[in-house]
Amino acid sequence: MNVLITGGSRGIGAACVRRFCAQGDRVAFLYNKSKELANALAEETGALAIQADITDPDAVIRAVTEAETKMGGIDVLVNNAGIAQIKLFTDLTDADWSTMLSTNLGGAFLVTRAVAKGMISRQFGRIVNVGSMWGKVGASCEVHYSAAKAGLRGMTMALAKELGPSHITVNCVEPGVIDTEMNAALDVETRASLCEETPLCRIGTPDEVASAVCFLASDGASFITGQILGVDGGFAV
Ligand code: NDP
Repeated sequence: MNVLITGGSRGIGAACVRRFCAQGDRVAFLYNKSKELANALAEETGALAIQADITDPDAVIRAVTEAETKMGGIDVLVNNAGIAQIKLFTDLTDADWSTMLSTNLGGAFLVTRAVAKGMISRQFGRIVNVGSMWGKVGASCEVHYSAAKAGLRGMTMALAKELGPSHITVNCVEPGVIDTEMNAALDVETRASLCEETPLCRIGTPDEVASAVCFLASDGASFITGQILGVDGGFAV
């Protein structure tokens, strides 16, 4: 299958690039600022790296067109790119709010809209959104992040209904605490208490999320759509 992954340069997205490539899929991924990491991953895996800021509508159209042209269409879209920010709600600026929403929700909208047209005309597709358990249960000091991720849940379910008749499935994985740069700023005590709160008593790996993403994109998940799958060690149960 031909796979497009956003935020493929690092963390969970890079793990997805590696997994899909290892199972023989043709993969293109978008990155924004991490050019060196993206080029190294492209060299390692054979995937195609394309620079695009997913908050920029023109850049998204250009990047999706490049991926479609070079791969001959897109069968699987993984909306993974995202940012995090920890801040008191009352300290959030207008810019904090709009940057968070335009990246974590708006980016998925722009990329999906650009990709869905080709999927509809080919009458096949698999879309996997990467949400967060905070979109389900909410996180203190991450109100804008939680709101954007909760938006992804709604988008997943609504789009599953709209695109189902075109044989396109739309699902969402909601990771718990995963060992990536996004959590690099957490101090040792916070990490330990997050492990303690997780029924499986540990932080997850990017590959454990990639495994769930690959499942939802596989033939084995052909009758699953509109679903939200927690990959959180039981944290948000
Ligand atoms: P990282 O911070 O490790 O990587 C983020 C990725 O998103 C990078 O590839 C980055 O690209 C890309 N990105 C960010 N902003 C943009 C943008 N404007 N345009 C294009 N690409 C962009 O994050 P993770 O791997 O940890 O997270 C991946 C996803 O998983 C996110 O959606 C996150 O919210 C979600 N998640 C993560 C959890 C965790 O504990 N790590 C928990 C729950 C959910 P570049 O570096 O090139 O700029």
